[in-house]
Amino acid sequence: MFGTHEFDVIIAGGGLAGASVAAALGEFGYRILIVEPGLDNTKRLAGELIHPPGTSDLAELGLLPALENAGGTPVYGFAVFAHQQRERISAETGSVLTDSGAFVLPYTSVDGMRIQGHAIEHAQMTKAMLAHVEKLPHVTVWKGARVTAVDVSSDEYALVTIIKGKRELQLKAQLLVAADGRTSNIRKMAGIEDDRTRLSTMVGYHLKNGRLPHPGFGHVFVGGPSPALAYQIAPNEVRVMFDIQDNPDGVKALERDPAYLEPIPEPLRSDIKQAMQTQQALVSANYTISPRALTKGRLVCVGDAGGCCHPLTATGISVSTRDAMRLRQAISDAQGNLKIALRRYTFLREGPTRTRMALAEALYRCFSERTPAMELLRMGILSYWHRSKSGRAASMALLSTYEGRMSVMARQYARVVGYGLIELVKLSKESELGSKRDALVGLSGATVKYVGEAFRGLFDGIYIPKSPEDARRYIKSQLRVA
Ligand SMILES: Cc1cc2nc3c(=O)[nH]c(=O)nc-3n(C[C@H](O)[C@H](O)[C@H](O)COP(=O)(O)OP(=O)(O)OC[C@H]3O[C@@H](n4cnc5c(N)ncnc54)[C@H](O)[C@@H]3O)c2cc1C
Repeated sequence: MFGTHEFDVIIAGGGLAGASVAAALGEFGYRILIVEPGLDNTKRLAGELIHPPGTSDLAELGLLPALENAGGTPVYGFAVFAHQQRERISAETGSVLTDSGAFVLPYTSVDGMRIQGHAIEHAQMTKAMLAHVEKLPHVTVWKGARVTAVDVSSDEYALVTIIKGKRELQLKAQLLVAADGRTSNIRKMAGIEDDRTRLSTMVGYHLKNGRLPHPGFGHVFVGGPSPALAYQIAPNEVRVMFDIQDNPDGVKALERDPAYLEPIPEPLRSDIKQAMQTQQALVSANYTISPRALTKGRLVCVGDAGGCCHPLTATGISVSTRDAMRLRQAISDAQGNLKIALRRYTFLREGPTRTRMALAEALYRCFSERTPAMELLRMGILSYWHRSKSGRAASMALLSTYEGRMSVMARQYARVVGYGLIELVKLSKESELGSKRDALVGLSGATVKYVGEAFRGLFDGIYIPKSPEDARRYIKSQLRVA
């Protein structure tokens, strides 16, 4: 039965992606409904660090002041600690290697990018964003409601079933936006399958007065069984997260194995130990999920519903805000024709998604695998950051999602491999890196994969040029960087 409610767009999910889309589509005059079950986000380990491209998008969507007023703290870049490799890389002038032993990569190294991001506790962030969009005249928010069924078989509309309190309503909308997170039920109900791999478990603690070596920077600690991350979420508060592999009971594994804390310097290590004794950890599973399609009929997937990767690169939020911008651009390019707009959205998202997924996979393998090939790659990447100013800038641009071209990622990967090979030649003893041959074979395989992906990106995807000039520009830009 149809209700009396009339909405043009229904957004399933009032997280960062849903709120951003609601703000982004304001200019088209749509009446928008956000349906949000209202789960307790304070018990959830999820995104908190937003890179500058994400804060730029939030500013353009009019959401940044609300986010900053809600709390949190600015972020200026990354600090990577990798003691084992650091000792092997010879010191030179102009290095980013600080006295603390970190390779510091500031956002300021990237020309044209905003110089600061923002980090804030996840529940505070989502609450502030939803509260802000709820006040927009074109937006209605139903809290405590949930989308329970969808029918996207028509090309003209989506039929959406919503449970609101004790009532079940069926609404028809021109556009249904799946913004219901990485394991999206909306996607599944629409019949879109996905490829997923469970990677590891994340265990997180909240440190009141946690003492970071580089406050204001996202810390990555390499050298334990798997990487650990730490960053401020407020001036005196730190979030720390441990990636635990091969053990779904991440908390027990972390408590049992002191190696996880080894790469972390004092006094932060003591702060973490104290939190481990006094706090209930927050736990989350890490996945790579790639849906086989982003749209079906009048359904479009945004944010994590459009796919996710390991959180090491902290890109999920920036992708969510960017999806909102892409959808707005696609609708504008297609002059309101939603059928064409959804194809254009798929095209706009495809290339940067491939790059993001490949980068997250490459970096996670590099920082977590204990194989000679990945040891060599770790040395290569640190040496590259250590010696090359342009390399640092290019890495930061890719890591922050400011740069989304796969061809650039492949070229950077190849350069990192080159630096790794120089380090390999310098090593006197084979035993330092296992077999040199194993390292070379492993690394070659990975390099071929990413370079191959870059070339694949030239040919696939649904490309809808706006004009012959647009098509010429695209082909030229891809050939220039490949
Ligand atoms: C451990 C961890 C750490 C991370 N760290 C970072 C980081 O530092 N930086 C970063 O950028 N990203 C990070 N991420 C990723 C980031 O959390 C996500 O990319 C981001 O939250 C995605 O936002 P979203 O709105 O798409 O989905 P979600 O945040 O998952 O929101 C989905 C919303 O949909 C609602 N919903 C669910 N089912 C329904 C339904 N049937 N009907 C209606 N609504 C529904 C939910 O209640 C929820 O509010 C991290 C992820 C993890 C797991």
